Amino acid sequence: MSAAARLADIRGRMEAAAAEAGRDAAACRLVAVSKTHPAEAIAKLIEAGQRVFGENRVQEAEGKFPALRERHADLELHLIGPLQTNKAREAVALFDVLQSVDRPKLAETLAKEMDRAGRRPACFVQVNTGEEPQKAGVLPADIDRFVAECRDVWRLPVVGLMCIPPVEDDPALHFALLAKFAARSGLARLSMGMSADFDIAIRCGATEVRVGTALFGARG
Ligand SMILES: *Cc1c(COP(=O)(O)O)cnc(C)c1O
Repeated sequence: MSAAARLADIRGRMEAAAAEAGRDAAACRLVAVSKTHPAEAIAKLIEAGQRVFGENRVQEAEGKFPALRERHADLELHLIGPLQTNKAREAVALFDVLQSVDRPKLAETLAKEMDRAGRRPACFVQVNTGEEPQKAGVLPADIDRFVAECRDVWRLPVVGLMCIPPVEDDPALHFALLAKFAARSGLARLSMGMSADFDIAIRCGATEVRVGTALFGARG
């Protein structure tokens, strides 16, 4: 299948899931996760009309996106992977959305770098809904306090919550939890759902789904 055909397929499935849930299809955005895939593969999706992309490493994105942006000024780039504080400056300069804000030290560093750069990428707080020890993200018990600190102390533009459910669990439980936490914090956006479960996420209220494999094929 061509990149354009894969994109059309995913968009069709997103629309069907939104219709089933009685939601407006335009309320959920597709973030095409291009990590590990070369610029040529990304260019094919851009030609097919895709504009929003997600990368999980700052350095890899720096190697691919500046050149693509020269040709397409309207690209929107999301950081979806863990961010080290020593990469915060580069991340603020390059990304339009930071989906993995998950600890006070990072929030503080991002605030300083945003002030310095005069550029304020929208932030999602990543939540470890499954409370997995090896996984990044704020624990459910700490969300309200952390979101309040990000907003009130660091003045970060926090727009929503993001999660990656444990592989062995029913994702719908985690998506519902994330939606509940976001509503409690007054946050409108929910980044949840990947290739295997984006339709479930849309039924649970996702406003951004992050789809890699189903758009680009398997990662090498
Ligand atoms: C890689 C990745 C995805 C995309 O996963 P696929 O299963 O390939 O769709 C989504 N979110 C995050 C945080 C990722 O790291």
